[in-house]
Amino acid sequence: MIALIIDISGTHLPAVSMELAALALRLNKTETSGIMAVVCGKEAALGASRFAEASGIDTLGLVCDLEAHPAADMATALRAVLPAQGLRHLLLSHTPWSMEVAPVLAVGLGLPTVPCVTGYETETATFFRSAGSGTSRLHVKAPAGGVITLQAGALSPAPGADVTGRVTVRPLTVAPGPVRIRSTSAREKGNTALSGARVVVSVGRGIGSQENLSLFRRFADALPGAATGCSRPLVDMGWMPYPCQVGITGTAITADLYIALGISGSTQHLAGIPQGTTVVSVNRDPDAAIHAVSDLIIEADLLPFMEATLALLATQ
Ligand SMILES: Cc1cc2nc3c(=O)[nH]c(=O)nc-3n(C[C@H](O)[C@H](O)[C@H](O)COP(=O)(O)OP(=O)(O)OC[C@H]3O[C@@H](n4cnc5c(N)ncnc54)[C@H](O)[C@@H]3O)c2cc1C
Repeated sequence: MIALIIDISGTHLPAVSMELAALALRLNKTETSGIMAVVCGKEAALGASRFAEASGIDTLGLVCDLEAHPAADMATALRAVLPAQGLRHLLLSHTPWSMEVAPVLAVGLGLPTVPCVTGYETETATFFRSAGSGTSRLHVKAPAGGVITLQAGALSPAPGADVTGRVTVRPLTVAPGPVRIRSTSAREKGNTALSGARVVVSVGRGIGSQENLSLFRRFADALPGAATGCSRPLVDMGWMPYPCQVGITGTAITADLYIALGISGSTQHLAGIPQGTTVVSVNRDPDAAIHAVSDLIIEADLLPFMEATLALLATQ
């Protein structure tokens, strides 16, 4: 048996859901029988029916408030709905939520974990995952069974199914553990301008100092219609607002063109850039990980590059 767990916020079924379905089908030799999906969240009923219709996989919707419970308690509750025997693989998308839930599930199920998977080769049963902040790619022999977390954008989505899977919906009861959430506070919402933009120009730690951001803003303004983004360290340092953050804990863009200025290309950052995006990277390091996903690599010092480009545009 292969199980998928899909966590949803709101009514939105994440795009990675169909990538999880694709991985499950590849691990199961294209058969949907022997695969079950669990969709959990406040709108799990809607999410479960949408997923079952799209994938053809039998789906259990578990209605619950994901933010109300610590991850360990959620994992204990989820384990109780998974098959007690014969579960070979458990697949989740690689999100901050699953980073906490997956290890607890793996320990409870007695399965090994392969986190942050960025690819799978069926012929050799090999998982690929990145390590060392994206500087190396690990080739992992697929264990006979395991808890796998999959990076969004790693695989092509499963094709739409002809037959709808069966749907069951019920509430998920989560027993309180020793750790309690006392309160939660909302963070700024994602940047709608960023998520809908066709062109995104993003800046990373390579900018050097906060003062240099004025040059970056002039550079971005010179590109018509471009939205501005950044890597997480700039948000953490208070240089850029959180809605500009691209990546797994920021916004996932849908742009046709992504220009990465002084960004190394960590897996967490790349998770916000879908496959098929044309990526231009400007970096002085010829071995920067971002180059591996770039269509155009500009090996240059960032500040002189932006100044020279602005001067050139001014003459046009
Ligand atoms: C749980 C978790 C979630 C995370 N979520 C996110 C996320 O959503 N988004 C995100 O971005 N990160 C995220 N991170 C952080 C991530 O791991 C990286 O630390 C971060 O993406 C690195 O940002 P950076 O590329 O700007 O900085 P660095 O890795 O420091 O890279 C700076 C780059 O600039 C280049 N450079 C330096 N000077 C110059 C110059 N003068 N000219 C040209 N190039 C230059 C360097 O060669 C280098 O490649 C997360 C981390 C964790 C643990």
